[in-house]
Amino acid sequence: MPDSEFASEDAGFFFDSVAIIGIGLIGSSLAQALRANGFTGPIAIADRNGDALRDAEAMGLGNSYHVSAAKAVTGADMVILCVPVGAMGATARAIAPALAKHAVITDVGSVKGAVARAVSAAIPDRTRFVPGHPIAGSEQSGPKAGWATLFQHRWSIITPTDHSAEDAIEKVAAMWRAMGAEVEFMDIERHDLVLAITSHVPHLIAYNIVRTASDMESVAESEVIKFSAGGFRDSTRLAASDPTMWRDIFLNNKTAVIETLGRFMEDLAMLQRAIRWGDGEQLFDLFQRTRNIRMAIVEAGQETAAPDFGRPREAPGEAARTRPAEHHHHEGESGWDEDD
Ligand code: NAP
Repeated sequence: MPDSEFASEDAGFFFDSVAIIGIGLIGSSLAQALRANGFTGPIAIADRNGDALRDAEAMGLGNSYHVSAAKAVTGADMVILCVPVGAMGATARAIAPALAKHAVITDVGSVKGAVARAVSAAIPDRTRFVPGHPIAGSEQSGPKAGWATLFQHRWSIITPTDHSAEDAIEKVAAMWRAMGAEVEFMDIERHDLVLAITSHVPHLIAYNIVRTASDMESVAESEVIKFSAGGFRDSTRLAASDPTMWRDIFLNNKTAVIETLGRFMEDLAMLQRAIRWGDGEQLFDLFQRTRNIRMAIVEAGQETAAPDFGRPREAPGEAARTRPAEHHHHEGESGWDEDD
């Protein structure tokens, strides 16, 4: 590939070869986004899951496919760890002996403190490691769930450690920008606290409300499913997120999640009290305030202003054929929402 390095550099990629370890939703989206945005060098892909690897090969996501992560990183200039948060340390230990001296290592894990510690301790030169986290994704998993424009116009947070080298930080930032993402630098602890409130605790609440509904003896599960209305239905989308990924997030962002959850439970108790005492004014004032936050999110371009997340009011031809109680089968398929 004689001209590849120049073509890639023109496109904003300052490395000639890349290894993606873990080819799930995010790894697959990365492979597709690299190509779609002009990266022309070889992409080596590794996953322990044979089905994921076969799907990746069938989709033509890379140039070589490996069960061994160490084989995939051999000779790679840029190594991107895309495995669940709890597997980052073991993956870093597995690739450590095979890493090129100059290689830059980054990751996409949803938690940064635990990952930064585990990976830094495992690799031979911690100055080459730059932790990162694209704020884009969905509740689906596996390579087929990925798409090339996932990171476009989305934030990608880079959380350098105290040891990350400047040139490595620049290469990682340039890579995300070349794929259309907006880069924000953040302190590791701040990232974990911000994500606890914007993503991790909301997911925990969704998991819990769906559990509570399914455990209520007095309401049949069939009724919960049949009459599923906006609030609950939107929670089920979050609660359908990958169990491994989310188990790992909670186990690895313990401090920030527990702190945020403590605040949340105090506030919830206040709402319970307001309802018990019929304090409508307090409820109204709060709902007014929270609606303004939603408007600010829409204005910031982070969410659609369309009602019901832009779901079609009726699927084409649906009204003629479907009784109202069956509509839920056809809803919720109109668009992706980013998750974490
Ligand atoms: P995914 O679709 O479930 O894919 C993860 C892949 O990694 C699977 O193929 C899995 O194989 C493989 N894997 C697990 N442990 C491994 C190991 N030790 N060595 C090699 N491969 C291993 O997950 P994802 O949604 O792409 O998430 C990947 C990372 O991105 C996570 O750290 C997550 O926190 C982060 N992230 C996710 C999102 C999102 O919305 N999904 C957004 C931003 C960041 P098995 O099936 O055998 O386990």
